Amino acid sequence: MIITVNNKKIKKEEKIYVVADFDGTLTKGNSKTSWSVLANTNLLPEKYIEDRQKLFDEYYPIEIDTSLSFDYRQNKMKEWFKLHAELFVKYHLKEEFIKQAAKNFDFMEFREGAKEFLDYLKKNNIPLIIISEGIGNFVKAFLEYKNCMFNNIYISSNMLKFKDGICVGIEDNIIHSLNKNEVSLPEHIKDKIKNKDKIILLGDKIDDVRMVNNEPDNKLIKIIWSHDKEYKIEELKKYYDYVFSDEESYLDVINNIWEC
Ligand SMILES: [Mg+2]
Repeated sequence: MIITVNNKKIKKEEKIYVVADFDGTLTKGNSKTSWSVLANTNLLPEKYIEDRQKLFDEYYPIEIDTSLSFDYRQNKMKEWFKLHAELFVKYHLKEEFIKQAAKNFDFMEFREGAKEFLDYLKKNNIPLIIISEGIGNFVKAFLEYKNCMFNNIYISSNMLKFKDGICVGIEDNIIHSLNKNEVSLPEHIKDKIKNKDKIILLGDKIDDVRMVNNEPDNKLIKIIWSHDKEYKIEELKKYYDYVFSDEESYLDVINNIWEC
């Protein structure tokens, strides 16, 4: 089912770019997130899984508790991701494990039609910016495995650092669910997306709507894949132009949004 809140379309001659979340947006709603994939493999010791769960139990309630102050939650999210990355260092995560895990369909799979959608963007030279609060190394490994890591795609995400194939930490600029609005793109990407007529924004959380800032609403076409039971449809309709239910295909994005 597709709920059209605002019937916005793209005209054939209009220049566009796309901003998309990754986990649960380009991947299926029941896919594991890139932060949780390794806990579902036997690539790291049992102790890692226990330690990771402890962090989850402590920090996830803070992520979703909107009664707490926004600043407090933001700081806690950064703290959570850094501590999780420290576990990867402690348990000697190998870079090759990421590639192995990204190939496992049981953990992570594209939404229906997502590959064709990425092919379509590539063919039409439409820039795609993926802003992910997940682990960028996974996003890249997954797209490479699917033969979709095209040169029109730019990934802004959390990057684990490796030395001699072993994890040694995480890049400083942590992206989490509450600061996706603060992502600063490099100049050569800004250059590619300037002077566009429309922007398609794709997400699966209400906060994903904040991935694009300072653009007038009439330039934006905002689409959410609704699979998170915590959100009510009426709530999603307040923020998004189209609400796609979990089983809809990306081909419906092309068919519904582009005017033929
Ligand atoms: Mg997501």
